[in-house]
Amino acid sequence: MRFLRDQPVRRQVIALTCAILAPIVVGLAWSANRTRTEREAELRDQAGSIATTAAAYLTQYLGGVDSVASALALHPSVVDLDREPSDRLFATVLRNQPLLLNIVLSNRQGMIRGSGLPVRASQSVTVVYPYVMDVVATGRPIVSELMTGVVSGKPTIIMAYPVSRADDVVGVIAIGLDLAHLQTVFNDVPLPEGSVITLTDEKGRVLARSRDSERYIGKFSGAHPVAPRDVPRTQRLMGLDGVERFYGNAPIDRGPWLLSVGIPTSVAMTRITPLWRRDFGIAALGLTAFLVVSLVFAHLFSRDLNRLRQGVQRIADGDLSPPVKGPVPNLELRQLQDAFITMAANLRNAHAALDRQIEQERKMREVLQSLQRQVVRQERLAAVGVLVSGVAHELNNPLQAILGTVELLERQSPLPQDALEEIGFIKTQSGRAREIIRNLSRFSTQQSGPPALVDLRDVIAEVVQLRRRSLDDSGIALDVETMTTRKVYANFTEIEQVTLNFVINAQQSIEAAARRNGRILVRVFDAGKKVRLDVQDDGPGVAPTDEPKLFQPFFTTKPVGKGTGLGLSVSYGIIESYGGAIGYLGNEWGGATFYFELPAADPATQDRHSDDQSPLLHRSVSSSL
Ligand code: ADP
Repeated sequence: MRFLRDQPVRRQVIALTCAILAPIVVGLAWSANRTRTEREAELRDQAGSIATTAAAYLTQYLGGVDSVASALALHPSVVDLDREPSDRLFATVLRNQPLLLNIVLSNRQGMIRGSGLPVRASQSVTVVYPYVMDVVATGRPIVSELMTGVVSGKPTIIMAYPVSRADDVVGVIAIGLDLAHLQTVFNDVPLPEGSVITLTDEKGRVLARSRDSERYIGKFSGAHPVAPRDVPRTQRLMGLDGVERFYGNAPIDRGPWLLSVGIPTSVAMTRITPLWRRDFGIAALGLTAFLVVSLVFAHLFSRDLNRLRQGVQRIADGDLSPPVKGPVPNLELRQLQDAFITMAANLRNAHAALDRQIEQERKMREVLQSLQRQVVRQERLAAVGVLVSGVAHELNNPLQAILGTVELLERQSPLPQDALEEIGFIKTQSGRAREIIRNLSRFSTQQSGPPALVDLRDVIAEVVQLRRRSLDDSGIALDVETMTTRKVYANFTEIEQVTLNFVINAQQSIEAAARRNGRILVRVFDAGKKVRLDVQDDGPGVAPTDEPKLFQPFFTTKPVGKGTGLGLSVSYGIIESYGGAIGYLGNEWGGATFYFELPAADPATQDRHSDDQSPLLHRSVSSSL
């Protein structure tokens, strides 16, 4: 139960247990109270019905006593108050009636004229008891209060009946009830331990009691005396012996007396306890089983949730590998697990798509930056071209004037030799200046001569022928590789100039590095829809800081008088004018490779151009380039 170590989970489990326990405890308490009330009501009913039954039995018995008394009152010996026969008669009756203590016959004055029990000499006096007076006075039977028997000397209640002759009351038959014996009869009634049956008179005095009668007979029960009829059928009372009981009451009109059956309240508890024990046992067992099952489920649930949480944490940490599908206890968790797996797959796809997009964007950014650099360079070169074109144009006119004037001077003869030499020098320098201006004009895309189909192999052959001797002198090996037969559409001289410029630069760079046995490789080959020419050398190459400036006019690293810085810029202008590309690369020899690419002329056009080079065709070829 590792999850119980988690504070919030533990708090939740406790709260849940309390939430379950509270109604169960309330239910149990309610059930226990209900059971107690029911058992108490049962006991009250039991006491009530036993009291009613016992009262009916006693009433019936008293009715029997009345019948015996009536019969005796008619007996001649009794009517005659004849002592001897009356004694025998009463003794016979007493033998058959154990509940009767004695039967005494007295005359109107109270003198004993017969007794079931032998009368001692001292007792044969005239004792006038109130009941004798009452019966003589009323001529009706009466029931006395609790008293001590005249002959027996025991506590008794007298039922007194008149004996009449010719409508005159001549005597009284007194039948004493044996209260002590009544106790043994009560004892025979099956009742729970500690129960008691009590007979009380209307003053609340105990007449008979099933337990400890000697102690309590004649005592008042303590309760305020209530007429037996008015006493409730059942009640809960503290008895004379200090025991609390449920009492069932039944009146006996013949008395009037009250017969009470008391069952201790503790009996109810004794009966309830096993029920309570059983109920609590079942509840405790059920609750324990419920808690165990809940904890097992909670454990399984938390274990699977934990696994899912680890999976999600892994995803959160960036690991998007597919989560492992494990066994889960219920449908909801399975759906949750499937949702996580789908989510991880979607995240993986999204991540891959994002990576692809980022890569594409990076490449696009690189292309864009390269294009931007290219545009900036072209813009700058174009601006320089416009500038150079203007300057060339402006310089050309005064230069023509100088050359014209010099030629005029030359013709004015005779001129001294010195002057002629000076004029010759002016002509040479002016011619050089014109050549520079022409080159500048070419840079600013002013083509010289009409274009035609050019075979780059012919161009290379021309250049090799021009430079062979010089290269041999410098000990530089020149190799040529031609791997295409395709032609380009351009001006032969211009392309030759560009190639020658590349070769001269390569030679000069090798020479500047004072390298013996240098190498130059000239290659021509197909590059897609273009034909490309490379001039590769093993010189020192170009410094990175110089790379951006290579194709700018007047950029040179050569000593004054040797380099003009126009070769590459003019070459750039020429190649650009044919829609080609020119550039520089480092090479595996550690030197420089300068190249240009020109669109290859299509074969059909090549054939027609070889026969006819009309301006019309020229235009159509131009547009196809
Ligand atoms: P110039 O040759 O008159 O200097 P270019 O325009 O032909 O003018 O060349 C410009 C510069 O480019 C050179 O001064 C040199 O620094 C560099 N360069 C050209 N070709 C090479 C090469 N093959 N190796 C090293 N540097 C070169």
